[in-house]
Amino acid sequence: MVEMRKPIPVIDAVANVMKYSQRGEVESVSIKDCDNRRLAESVIAKHPVPPFDKSPYDGFALRSVDTEKGSLDNPVEFEVIEHIGAGQVPTKTLHQGQATRIMTGAKIPDGADCVAMFEVCKTFEKDGKNRMSIKRKMKQGQNIIEEGSEVADNDILIEKGTVINPGVKAILATFGYNQVQVAKKPTVGVIATGTELLDVDEELRPGKIRNSNAHMITSQIKRAGGEVVYFGKLADEFDESYNTISHALEKVDMLITTGGVSVGDFDLMPAIYEKLGAQVLFNKVAMRPGSVTTVAVRGNQLLFGLSGNPSACYVGFELFTRPIIQRYLFSEQPFLKRIQATLCEDFPKPNPFTRFVRSYITFENGQVGVRLAGMDKSNVVTSLANTNALMVLPGGTRGYKAGTNVEVLLLNDTDGQSEF
Ligand code: AMP
Ligand code: MG
Repeated sequence: MVEMRKPIPVIDAVANVMKYSQRGEVESVSIKDCDNRRLAESVIAKHPVPPFDKSPYDGFALRSVDTEKGSLDNPVEFEVIEHIGAGQVPTKTLHQGQATRIMTGAKIPDGADCVAMFEVCKTFEKDGKNRMSIKRKMKQGQNIIEEGSEVADNDILIEKGTVINPGVKAILATFGYNQVQVAKKPTVGVIATGTELLDVDEELRPGKIRNSNAHMITSQIKRAGGEVVYFGKLADEFDESYNTISHALEKVDMLITTGGVSVGDFDLMPAIYEKLGAQVLFNKVAMRPGSVTTVAVRGNQLLFGLSGNPSACYVGFELFTRPIIQRYLFSEQPFLKRIQATLCEDFPKPNPFTRFVRSYITFENGQVGVRLAGMDKSNVVTSLANTNALMVLPGGTRGYKAGTNVEVLLLNDTDGQSEF
């Protein structure tokens, strides 16, 4: 007799899985290797920025009071007493009628309170001395980047959990973070099940197909920030499958299997969960594709039983596994970012379940639009290449017309949202 499964709403399934989410460990990596990792500590300003008053231009540092009488027909003259470039420290304090030739980024000398750019100054020699003149009045503080004007000492600049992008890296370097505390990547095991599966380097034979899921899921795990441990593919044979899966569980933080979660004669995963003593959280979700997606838990390990159908497998990962990985990496926004977009073509299929249509974002007529990435079937692989979003079409309708406003989950965004 075929087992009857009761579908649960996607939102409940996600919430159920998230009950078992954990935050992972911290590790220290060189700043050189921290790209795209998530910060395990907030970044705090260890000193003011800039750390000293500095010049934003090449020009002359001087005292604004000395320019009070300066005008187009009355140039005021200064003696140039020092010449400093960025990285050099001025040694002379300016007194009345004195100026320092100063380069961009150099420290403002004591006594000076403004900088006149080269463009408004004239330089010349008189009595064997370097001199300059200016035909305008300068204001106190003009053209000086004040110490601490960008960042004060001890400011919290970036929150823990943020993805390290080039800008974050610049901040880390600014404050001397040679080693960076980042979230350790969870190890995610991958096993593809199915007697029909061939490896990528094998010739096609009758009745067989190449194992695309393992490679796809590996890539999705990496994109989500996890570390992949691939245990190979398994024929649909109980003992070998059980042994491989139970050994794999000893080596990973969580495990993904693809295939074998349906109710077919060779779908072994339900019996394997049972023998493992894993508690099945759900084995049917009211969604298309991937209604057979199953998640089980054993101890503190989650076992994701994704469908063998490539599109269903893909969607199951993004909805259930990705947020678990993101949470492990200290993300406070582990769920895919949800935006509104205009449906750019008719979607006539009626369906009782919520659909997650493989789609891509377009920008048409000044609006964010969404289009189908290809054939909308769970067994299809080709549409996935164009996919950068999942259009969420709630069930219970007779389809959707072009021009309708729909919700879309973005797949390529590093920042997600806090609620599903
Ligand atoms: P299953 O979930 O095991 O019932 O498999 C559903 C469909 O997905 C079948 O047509 C399988 O041949 C196919 N399939 C299963 N595993 C993979 C895989 N690793 N790569 C590509 N297709 C697969
Ligand atoms: Mg199978």
